Amino acid sequence: METFEELGLKEEINKALSELGFVKPTPIQEKAIPNLLTSEKDLVALAQTGTGKTAAFSLPIIEQVDIDDKTVQAFILSPTRELCLQIARDIQEFTKYLKKIKTIPVYGGARIDTQIKQLLAGGQIVVGTPGRVCDMIRRKKLDLSKIKWVVLDEADEMLSMGFKDELDFILETTPEEKQTLLFSATMPKEIARIAKKYMEDPLEITAGTKNEGAKNVTHVYYKIQHRNKYQALKRIADINPNIYSIVFCRTRRETKEIADKLMNDGYNADALHGDLSQAQRDIVMHRFRGKHLQILVATDVAARGIDVDNLTHVINYSLPDQIESYTHRSGRTGRAGNKGTSIALITNRESHKIRQIERKIGKEFTKGEIPKGREICEIRLMSMIEGLKQVEVDEENIAEFMPAILENLDELTKEDVIKKFVSVEFNRILAYYKGAKDLNVSDAKDGKKDKRKSGRLEYTRFHINVGKKNNLNPQRLMGMINDIPEISKIAIGQIEIFKKFSFFDVDKDYKNEIVKALSGSEFEGIPLHVEPVKERPDYAKKGKDRGGDRRSSRSRGRSDRAKRAKDKFRKRRR
Ligand code: ADP
Ligand code: MG
Repeated sequence: METFEELGLKEEINKALSELGFVKPTPIQEKAIPNLLTSEKDLVALAQTGTGKTAAFSLPIIEQVDIDDKTVQAFILSPTRELCLQIARDIQEFTKYLKKIKTIPVYGGARIDTQIKQLLAGGQIVVGTPGRVCDMIRRKKLDLSKIKWVVLDEADEMLSMGFKDELDFILETTPEEKQTLLFSATMPKEIARIAKKYMEDPLEITAGTKNEGAKNVTHVYYKIQHRNKYQALKRIADINPNIYSIVFCRTRRETKEIADKLMNDGYNADALHGDLSQAQRDIVMHRFRGKHLQILVATDVAARGIDVDNLTHVINYSLPDQIESYTHRSGRTGRAGNKGTSIALITNRESHKIRQIERKIGKEFTKGEIPKGREICEIRLMSMIEGLKQVEVDEENIAEFMPAILENLDELTKEDVIKKFVSVEFNRILAYYKGAKDLNVSDAKDGKKDKRKSGRLEYTRFHINVGKKNNLNPQRLMGMINDIPEISKIAIGQIEIFKKFSFFDVDKDYKNEIVKALSGSEFEGIPLHVEPVKERPDYAKKGKDRGGDRRSSRSRGRSDRAKRAKDKFRKRRR
């Protein structure tokens, strides 16, 4: 099947889908949707993560609900709150042009009264998590007695989380006459048992072998310092001249920044993020699909709906906040029988995230070594030389130019000629990697602590817009820095307090965290501006003469920090 249109869904649905970038149904959608549109038989659908199961069950439901009736007609049970919200959001997007269809997420950890109000207002589709749904049923706020469809999404997950009793309780309240759909990535014995107990002679469909994609993906992490991330990314690109990759960033800003840097540095890259217009996105995607673009830097949201089969690498420039997203990201490579690599660039403090992901995906990462400059040059040179050897010479046409060429090169030896040929391609890369550092951080210890012991610690100097006049003193300033939740045991260097402003030095690796956390917070009612400064300005150099209150890092230890007064400064996070 080539397009969604062929499925004969409502025009409003097709419009929403095409805006989401859904063109072609995925295999599971292709099998499940026509079936659910024409048959009332129960269904067990098995397909790996990231294959579009949500649309597979929700589109036929959306197509068939009675828009003018506001009672609950379809109920979707999901194991986690994140997934519940995700499904509800997906359905809301699919029904963007069917305004009368209301989808209500019902999940724990949020105010129940708000959700009760929404349920009372009515809606055709309810997506819920087991605990909260049971609660709502007991409170008689959710009535599933009239539903036509029950979907058990990620049923395997639901069982492994121990929701069997809830599942039993919920399903007891549903009517006999309904269509039950079970979606799962795996088919363990328990799922088969559930299917047997709650479903009537279900049709079973499978798309792809179980976790086929995952099988073809190798997961690699590189441990580096935060400030070396971009360089590490470049090295990965350099060592893989034929890279075809999506680089995932966490924010639009980061996405823009990385893509801009790559473009400036001569890489075939571009950005895809929410600030682009639909037309701009289309252009970028068109280039990427056509492989005119090798590296697409994107946010998770923007990369949704991108369906490209032969990516060589997925690069997690920043790990996602939710582990589930890692699965989606990495599932974009290793498709259609190809091999793929999913790379995570991490700092020491993110090591635990790798462990979490390993547990989730049931696969181990290998630790990669960021190639050293020399290796990169060697590999690139050799692959070029190999390429050179393969070039076919058009003897006939080149013949007439040969005498002139040879005459021109007469003075050069064979070796000179080779050097020059190679340099045409390679001067840039050779120059860039000349004396380049090793970027790897060892697994053994905390790199940042190591540095402090060996005295290799480098500081960044910051300017802050408060000083003595605002009752700032070194203790309070240290308090401010130590209260930033994202950083612990950060090394603080010299502090200089002036009348209306101050300077302080902290471990260079925490530059971004400092700026992010302090800018936008307040001290004594004054909104703070914190900025890294390159050179200490002249007027501040003779701190003492100007009445600067200086402390050197030597004279101060952790005991000082313990003594510091707890400042009450409120954060006004963006
Ligand atoms: P699953 O539930 O199988 O793990 P999802 O339903 O969450 O997968 O879909 C995974 C991703 O693929 C989502 O970002 C979704 O928007 C996208 N997607 C689903 N179907 C299509 C399609 N036909 N074309 C393009 N993208 C799709
Ligand atoms: Mg899913």
